[in-house]
Amino acid sequence: MRVFNFSAGPATMPLEVLERAQSELTDWRGSGMSVMEMSHRSGEFVSIAAQAERRMRDLLSVPDDYAVLFLQGGATGQFSAVPLNLASPGAPAAYLNTGSWSAKAVAEGRKYVDVRVLADEKESNYSTVPEQGSLEVPADAAYLHYTMNETIGGVEFPYVPDAGEVPVVTDASSTILSRPLDVSRFGVIYAGAQKNLGPAGICVVVVRRDLLDRARPEVPAALDWKAMADADSMLNTPPTLAWYLVGLVLEWVEQQGGVAEMARRNQAKADLLYGAIEASDFYSNPVQPAARSWMNVPFLVPDSALEKPFVAAAAEAGLSGLAGHRSVGGMRASIYNAMPIEGVQALVDFMTDFEQQNG
Ligand SMILES: *Cc1c(COP(=O)(O)O)cnc(C)c1O
Repeated sequence: MRVFNFSAGPATMPLEVLERAQSELTDWRGSGMSVMEMSHRSGEFVSIAAQAERRMRDLLSVPDDYAVLFLQGGATGQFSAVPLNLASPGAPAAYLNTGSWSAKAVAEGRKYVDVRVLADEKESNYSTVPEQGSLEVPADAAYLHYTMNETIGGVEFPYVPDAGEVPVVTDASSTILSRPLDVSRFGVIYAGAQKNLGPAGICVVVVRRDLLDRARPEVPAALDWKAMADADSMLNTPPTLAWYLVGLVLEWVEQQGGVAEMARRNQAKADLLYGAIEASDFYSNPVQPAARSWMNVPFLVPDSALEKPFVAAAAEAGLSGLAGHRSVGGMRASIYNAMPIEGVQALVDFMTDFEQQNG
């Protein structure tokens, strides 16, 4: 029996993908071996890798002048890869701080560049994003970095910040493929896979090719976008199994109707859950409505002593992974692409019952 898994990441994956992987596990399409046993230089694996890239390009309509890389080191690796590939030592770089993940990107960036935090949402208790049009990005900034969706705080940008000629870099780990995205607005988009793309261990980086000539000589080879682009992300042994599984997830998204259909479903799921929270005096969500995440929905109960019983009773009811992040407490439901609306409905029904018993 599979539960509805609301974990923030690693997170639920489509059952069809898991079953497909299972059926191909010991013999990938007549090759006589598992994908995890294949040489990454073999024709079979090269085709798996190329197909995944093709699907990512198609789904996001990635323009030809962008490279699509599949790297290791997670989104955290990219926190250092971004300054090392785009800025010289001590150069100014602009950052927006909207919560835990942007703060981590800022802290990592400080090791390599002169971080200028243009907007810090601390005063709003990280419950919103800077107002559109309010940013003044210094023209000499090497880039503007922001976190498209704060996975812990549940805060999502409803717009793409305008930085003029300065390349916009975004951490899209928990929102990529959840709705359409205009790639041409960005210099770099990166996303760890374990939220919306597949299993942990691989990170997708979409980078405009004209930005590939800015790297510092000391950038580690494994984080060197140009070297990786030149080597089709196979400068060293890539995470082959994870890459293959991401490819299966991309194929699944394609079969479901692509990113536009994901957006339709995700909006319906988010409306259902936020609607239930709004309609109740028992549950609350601290995020300002315009900046509410479609993917990660944090919520509180009136008495924090009820949190543990809530999470335990939900798990009993087959609703897993609802504890909030250890840094903030409360509850959080992550409702990525692979979470069906039936799961969200089951959660809403459970919340109603729990409120009746404890409200
Ligand atoms: C999960 C997450 C990260 C960290 O990813 P790792 O793969 O653990 O490095 C960074 N940013 C965001 C927005 C995330 O959701």
